[in-house]
Amino acid sequence: MSEVIEEVSSGDNAAIQLINEAKEFSQGLPAYFQGCLGNRDIDQNYHVISVFGSQSSGKSTLLNLLFNTSFDTMDAQQKRQQTTKGIWLSHTREVNTNQGAHTDPKSDIFVLDVEGSDGAERGEDQDFERKAALFAIAVSEVLIINMWEQQIGLYQGNNMGLLKTVFEVNLSLFGKNSKSAAPADATSKKHKVLLLFVIRDHIGVTPLESLSDTLTTELEKVWKELSKPDSCKDSSIYDFFDLKFVGLSHKILRADKFVEDVKELGDNFTVSENNENYLFKPEYHHMLPLDGWSMYSESCWDQIENNKDLDLPTQQILVARFKTDEIMNETLEKYFQGYETETQNVIDANDKDKLIDLLSTIKDNCTDAYDEMAGRYAKKVYLENRTKLLSKINARFAETIEFFIHATSSELLDSLKKFVARDNDKSISFNDNLLKVSAEISKSFNNYLTDFKEKDLIDDASTTELTTKFNKFLTKKQNELRDARVKAIISQFKKNMTFAIKDNVISLLANPTVDVWDKVMTFFNSRMDELLGRYSTVNENGERISDFEVGFTPELNNTIYTRLRYIAWSVLNNTVHDYLKEDTVVGILRDKFENSFRYDENDTPILWKDEQQIDNSFKVARSEALEIFDMLCIARKSDGSEIIPDVNIDDVEVEDDMGIYHLERFAHIINEIQKEKISRQFKKQLNMCVIDAKRSIITTTTH
Ligand code: GDP
Ligand code: MG
Repeated sequence: MSEVIEEVSSGDNAAIQLINEAKEFSQGLPAYFQGCLGNRDIDQNYHVISVFGSQSSGKSTLLNLLFNTSFDTMDAQQKRQQTTKGIWLSHTREVNTNQGAHTDPKSDIFVLDVEGSDGAERGEDQDFERKAALFAIAVSEVLIINMWEQQIGLYQGNNMGLLKTVFEVNLSLFGKNSKSAAPADATSKKHKVLLLFVIRDHIGVTPLESLSDTLTTELEKVWKELSKPDSCKDSSIYDFFDLKFVGLSHKILRADKFVEDVKELGDNFTVSENNENYLFKPEYHHMLPLDGWSMYSESCWDQIENNKDLDLPTQQILVARFKTDEIMNETLEKYFQGYETETQNVIDANDKDKLIDLLSTIKDNCTDAYDEMAGRYAKKVYLENRTKLLSKINARFAETIEFFIHATSSELLDSLKKFVARDNDKSISFNDNLLKVSAEISKSFNNYLTDFKEKDLIDDASTTELTTKFNKFLTKKQNELRDARVKAIISQFKKNMTFAIKDNVISLLANPTVDVWDKVMTFFNSRMDELLGRYSTVNENGERISDFEVGFTPELNNTIYTRLRYIAWSVLNNTVHDYLKEDTVVGILRDKFENSFRYDENDTPILWKDEQQIDNSFKVARSEALEIFDMLCIARKSDGSEIIPDVNIDDVEVEDDMGIYHLERFAHIINEIQKEKISRQFKKQLNMCVIDAKRSIITTTTH
């Protein structure tokens, strides 16, 4: 592949072909950096300089001499030896200065040599020439524009023409953000590029000043004539560029002076103190750490090559985003290695302090590593991703903390059950007590979380989430306990009511009197009052404060109260209707009749004297029995009113076998058909009784 690092031999510092003839960007850049920097972290302490100018104008020769690089140069003997086209990059820390041939410039310098073909000669290569120049402007702090002295003033295609095009495209690509073309971390200085005109074979007849005046005038004219985007219509060349001019003597004719001139130029790349000609001004720097620069320059090239909009601040943000993302992920990967096992061990040991220590260490390691590596990128992006990093860390922690507190929270939830189970305190209602204990449990849970919160190991959102989850369980537990208690109250009441009714109401109905329903209702009501009264609240003097209170909310109290009353009525309804079946009623009537017919006031059997006596007694006894019969058919109180339950099915939720009754049907115990049947049966029995009685007279008289 083309990205093989090609080394050239003459100088000490090898070069890499950054962009090849096929206009591909080298993938070998990180390896190249690694090779020349080792593990040195130079952050932003480096400079980028490029050269641009006609073919064979001595560019590579100058760079090699100035920076001890080894760019390919044309051999003086073999005229026009083709050097490899492309953009070459070389690293150097050696500058040729008046202090010495290999002066350390204090910063690492990356030198870009554009090796083109002469655009004037080969039309199709103008494209490369232009793109290379654009690229050089986009990624460099200083762009050397190399030209022969005799080219100056001759407005010809090679230099000014190319510059015009480059300025134009540069403006359309970068210009729109010219006012904010500051480095991405928004230092107030505006980003600029230094255009350093190096005039070769400067003989000295025309002084440098007048040459630079000529060039400046030309450049300003070019700038004026540029078609500029609206956003920078009124801009001047100085909004984007600083201009500087240097003359170099003839390399062959004045070789000594040439070397001196080069050394002086070298001084201006190295000596920053008290040197007003120092060339690397801070506002030229892109403020990217070197490891971001390779990505930045690649995307610049990509944009230029693909004619996409090239927008420097955006590029820098993109680079920052990519790099800080990468750093964030690497950091997480590194410090969360083995996280599951490590935390699981601590969770198993249920050691809270150890968990807090462990998580704190992981978090500190992550943020320290991230800050160190990512802190150099655009501050906004660095901070954005820092927040992201923290939320990723917190998300992992929240999971762990949830696992960890699981045991504790189930313990807490169980304690609610236990507490309520041994709750015999009558001074506080069941519900208030439930809430009180719940609040204590909630507090314990929150306290438990606070320790993690204090160390900033769990964020507000996760805290809320965990607390909400816990409270949901707590509420569920509360409801379970409430339901259980309601169930217990109901089943207790139902049992008591059933016993009472079965014993008493049936015995009342078995020997009915005319006011049997008065008696039944009196019993029923008093029993119900008594049983419900067990749930009344009594103060210390034994006075009732409320009639019915099972310790829940007033609403729930009401519901249960109604439900219990409904149950009582159901039990009564079932008992009465089940008991007063046809045969039972016939039996009751016969008993009633016989008691009256066959026994006197002292319960002594009557000895019949004559049929008249039998007939009279029969009439009385039968009418008494029939009166009772009426009472049993429809339940009425002695004032004649039908008995109607005071709780409607619609007032309660009945979910079990409580039995459903109808308010109007309650009192209607025996219907017309049944009544007929019972009457017939009863008549038969009466007749038997009468016949028996009459036989007894005969027997008596026979004796
Ligand atoms: P490049 O194509 O611009 O990189 O030019 P080179 O550095 O390869 O040099 C092209 C030719 O110009 C070589 O033969 C050099 O020896 C010669 N050369 C280099 N510098 C100078 C100079 O300052 N003056 C003159 N007259 N010739 C030079
Ligand atoms: Mg060259």
